[in-house]
Amino acid sequence: MTEFTHPGLYVHVPFCKTKCPYCDFYSVTSLSSIQDWLEAIKREMLLYRDRFSLFDSLYLGGGTPSLLPDHDLAELHHHLLHCFSFSSDTEFTVEVNPDDIHSSKLVALQDLGVNRISMGVQSFDDRDLRFLKRRHTADQAVTAMDGLKGAAFAKVGLDLMYGLPGQTESSWLKTLEQATSFNPEHISCYQLTLEERTPFGILKTQGEWKTLDEETGSAFSSSPRLSSKKKVTFTTRSPTSQEEKRTSAGTT
Ligand code: SF4
Repeated sequence: MTEFTHPGLYVHVPFCKTKCPYCDFYSVTSLSSIQDWLEAIKREMLLYRDRFSLFDSLYLGGGTPSLLPDHDLAELHHHLLHCFSFSSDTEFTVEVNPDDIHSSKLVALQDLGVNRISMGVQSFDDRDLRFLKRRHTADQAVTAMDGLKGAAFAKVGLDLMYGLPGQTESSWLKTLEQATSFNPEHISCYQLTLEERTPFGILKTQGEWKTLDEETGSAFSSSPRLSSKKKVTFTTRSPTSQEEKRTSAGTT
């Protein structure tokens, strides 16, 4: 018999500093519209406030929620609490980008009661990160993971990408070993997929690229020498729904 659980609340924060060429999640790079978005979502919350009795999780995904200035994050949180009720053991997750993580941001997240962080690391190899046009470096990812560990969030998850052109099994294994060394609650590994209408997807349409064949993909996902597999999940495509993001990790 399935136990009754309360619904979870997902809030999409549709801002990114830059667009990654593989990503088809909706976001804009014009940060000047943050205030307009905040006002709009506050009005929307008022419209929905009587439809739900209690939530048992809150997930701020994106986009890049960690890009919101601390006072805007606090205002968003204040209105969420004003409009909705949350159980006392609510899991409160925020997706973060490594280069947004510094001591004052960690304090701001903790002050809000965030107890789960999902960080979009993607790789601990600078070559991969440059290829993916990520705005952080491997060193920044390590520093951010150290910061999260020091701040003692109850749960930390990180997401990684495999199947990148030029990525070897050995470099992928190094990234995995580095990720497991932080002992996160969960690691989500996504095979690079070339989504239509993204810059990478357009290259695929033009015949310039192919995704990994099944056999090679499975070689990456079975990484035989990985010392800790129990917290690692592999997905042969990027997360395509908010529910998938809520239950695993994000893409930020
Ligand atoms: S992968 Fe993350 S940071 Fe990059 S564009 Fe998508 S949501 Fe923004």
